Amino acid sequence: MPKTVVVTGGAGFLGSHICERLLAQGIHVWCVDNFLTGSPHNVDHLVDDPAFHLMRHDVSEPLDIARPHLDAVLHFASPASPADYLRCPIQTLQAGSRGTFQALELARHTQARFVLASTSEVYGDPHVHPQKETYWGNVNPIGPRSVYDEAKRFAEAATTAYRRTYGTDCGIVRIFNTFGPRMHPNDGRAIPTFIAQAVTGQPITVTGDGTQTRSICYVDDLVSGVLSYMRSTIATPVNLGNPHELTILELARRIRHLADSTSPITFIPLPEDDPRRRRPDITRAKVALGWQPDTPIDEALNRTISWFRQRSTTTASPIFT
Ligand code: NAD
Ligand code: UDP
Repeated sequence: MPKTVVVTGGAGFLGSHICERLLAQGIHVWCVDNFLTGSPHNVDHLVDDPAFHLMRHDVSEPLDIARPHLDAVLHFASPASPADYLRCPIQTLQAGSRGTFQALELARHTQARFVLASTSEVYGDPHVHPQKETYWGNVNPIGPRSVYDEAKRFAEAATTAYRRTYGTDCGIVRIFNTFGPRMHPNDGRAIPTFIAQAVTGQPITVTGDGTQTRSICYVDDLVSGVLSYMRSTIATPVNLGNPHELTILELARRIRHLADSTSPITFIPLPEDDPRRRRPDITRAKVALGWQPDTPIDEALNRTISWFRQRSTTTASPIFT
């Protein structure tokens, strides 16, 4: 029997790449998505595959896949970009709370392994650098980002409680900033925004003075890490990301250079509670999973820039019109 995996949020950026990789490995995939921030277009190329099932569904509602056994439930459904979760604060809290419970229930009843897509945001604006999984974080519980950060912290607690209470085979990956094709050009995140601005000659909008840092990982590397974790029996959270850290101003300059753009760089106000520094310590992923990212950052940015250029000529999107 082929294996079957449910991917909630499967029509989003990361979810669509995960579905694609699972299908390529001969695994049957149920993609559950309400298209709140994702799009069926992200999985257009998969829908003719008989091993792929697309289900329009809000994961906050009971989830019935009509299968006595599933191999894994990968819970990726949640708005993820700051612009999206600030626009949809209640849905974000619902996806992390009720949505996580529904996905956990599905895993419990089908004896599946459950993997929660958590985030580096659980570390908030960190006082420890780089961030290890043992760090408890520094999150403002009532700040604008809290709807996302606290929803994910709650989801981690729920996941851990299911393991303790029911013995469900659960685990948590803490994903750091990841980029690649199929990011939405106007989802507000730095990399798609900078690329869209660079390829259309608009000013590149750096927040604050641009000295805040992020560490950026290519989507193909991230998917390999998620699937290694899925196949393991690890219960503890594992950071998945690329420790390659750079300032946001360096990132803007690099994208402008790689896109061969003459866009000016402009400075706009720094959003409230914007983390100052972020870099994963990936020792645990290396030791426990034998995983580390290996796509060079410039190559990854070039692939993403090419995808955006191609997309700008084939589909209309507000940022390109
Ligand atoms: P995305 O917005 O592209 O994908 C999220 C998907 O979830 C979308 O398709 C959306 O329609 C769907 N969704 C949202 N609420 C839903 C609901 N109630 N029911 C069903 N579907 C729902 O974002 P992404 O970047 O692909 O992120 C995917 C997951 O990975 C999220 O859980 C996010 O928190 C996590 N993550 C992503 C990153 C990153 O850098 N991309 C970093 C850390 C964590
Ligand atoms: N950022 C920026 N210009 C933009 C969008 C984002 O300078 O147009 C900054 C943002 O303030 C943050 C960094 O880039 O300091 C990364 O933002 P992103 O939303 O990509 O990720 P997150 O803040 O969730 O890590």
